[in-house]
Amino acid sequence: MSFRIDGAQALVTGANTGIGQAIAVGLAQAGAHVICAGRRSCADTVAACQSAGGSASEMVLDLADPAAAAEKLPEDLDILVNNAGIIRRADSVEFSEADWDDVMDTNLKAVFMLCQRFARNAQAAGRAGRIVNIASLLSFQGGIRVPSYTASKHGVAGLTKIFANEWAAKGIMVNAVAPGYIATNNTEALRNDPDRNQAILDRIPAGRWGAPEDIAGAVTFLCTPAAKYITGAVLNVDGGWLAR
Ligand code: NAP
Repeated sequence: MSFRIDGAQALVTGANTGIGQAIAVGLAQAGAHVICAGRRSCADTVAACQSAGGSASEMVLDLADPAAAAEKLPEDLDILVNNAGIIRRADSVEFSEADWDDVMDTNLKAVFMLCQRFARNAQAAGRAGRIVNIASLLSFQGGIRVPSYTASKHGVAGLTKIFANEWAAKGIMVNAVAPGYIATNNTEALRNDPDRNQAILDRIPAGRWGAPEDIAGAVTFLCTPAAKYITGAVLNVDGGWLAR
């Protein structure tokens, strides 16, 4: 059984910071060459991969236009991690069309189009592959004041399952990881609000916020030979939140 992915070509979206940066480093440490994709420079992530003993490069990939991003996807990938995501907050009765469209384009349409392109390329070359999509607790729960985020992350779980059904026979295994509350830019406002922070901590059985590295371990595992019979799974990495 192998937990190594030496020589694999991997691409991680939103790799300049947070969870995506940790995933890039995790995959590089496991032996992949990691293309760190971001709408801005991923130089810090490339340096972090290299100082961890791995191999990495960067490319600009803005997912706001999902079709254009899919056109730019490198053809020879073995691993695709759809990590990039955005969130917009407003009461559902006041939620704007722009906040619906922007979130759905980045979090869901881009995931669809990049997975589709990855699978087309892999199938044309007769190559196996692994896809890991980053879902959320809001792939299972409703949340509040985040309707497009909740819809997009429920959609990510659904797409993960349909792609798993359609592509397993071709050797393309598709899974998702659903992070709990992870300390990144995305959650800084929650952590800075003492009441919200305490309420969140009180409900997490592990008693702490997750670190980006906690997600990277699960994602990296799903890309290794050891996980070759896992497909269509949405793996919660949440310190026990959903078990509560
Ligand atoms: P983050 O620090 O805000 O990182 C989000 C990443 O997505 C950034 O690299 C961001 O780039 C990138 N991104 C946003 N729009 C993009 C676009 N149009 N094109 C390309 N990249 C774009 O948040 P994070 O917490 O690491 O989130 C990573 C993923 O985990 C997201 O899918 C998020 O929904 C999910 N998640 C996070 C948590 C949590 O607790 N943190 C929980 C559940 C799920 P910029 O830096 O340029 O904005």
